[in-house]
Amino acid sequence: MSVPSYKRILLKLSGEVLMGEQQFGIDTDYVARLAQEVKDARDSGLQICLVIGGGNIFRGMAGAAKGMDRAQADYMGMLATVMNALAMQNALEQLGVPTRVQSAVQMDQVCEPVIRRRAERHLEKDRIVIFAAGVGAPYFTTDSGAALRAAEMRCDALLKGTSVDGVYDADPKKDSAAKRYETVDYDTVLADNLKVMDASAVALCRDNNIPIVVFSIREQGNLAKVLSGEGTQTIVKKDA
Ligand code: UDP
Repeated sequence: MSVPSYKRILLKLSGEVLMGEQQFGIDTDYVARLAQEVKDARDSGLQICLVIGGGNIFRGMAGAAKGMDRAQADYMGMLATVMNALAMQNALEQLGVPTRVQSAVQMDQVCEPVIRRRAERHLEKDRIVIFAAGVGAPYFTTDSGAALRAAEMRCDALLKGTSVDGVYDADPKKDSAAKRYETVDYDTVLADNLKVMDASAVALCRDNNIPIVVFSIREQGNLAKVLSGEGTQTIVKKDA
């Protein structure tokens, strides 16, 4: 595979990877390990925007399933993503990486609001920008937030670091014959309802021609491998 020539990426980490081996919450040692991988990528000259999910703390759908008002539960989920963003900011800054958090839900005492031009300036100054609170509205996910920020920050790719090593044609946990795609096009993902990201996020990437690289961040060193074109991954793109 040819080496990707990304200059600016958006890295989306699902909240559950921050749990490490725990069942809930934030494993600070594991977050430190993730931060080191992010730092290594940034030290190689990449500009990095980060989006972190909140599923390790709270998901709106889970609250709604237990009878909560969905929008109320989603706002709680958004706050969970802010906590994760602050945990990652702390871990990155302990490694000496200047980092700014911008939240789509304004929280002046805690972090900046999302201001695209300011985020640009941070990247120019070699800072990592963590975008928190998704798109800032209920009924969305941080995948949609990641696709939105990748588009507005003109990222070359959206890297989705998660617990699985790519996109399969069936659930690999249930079907031993499930096959992992090397590449797959956006429309196949949408038509076959493949589990990559929610449909609105995939459509936004398709419409803006942003490749989505799905890989496992649980394997140590995998981010660097994926960035050098060697890792195990699936690339969702046009004309795959
Ligand atoms: N959320 C939301 N709007 C957004 C982003 C997130 O309402 O734009 C809420 C939603 O309840 C979601 C929760 O925040 O379940 C955590 O985000 P997500 O489920 O995307 O986290 P991940 O699965 O990536 O850990």
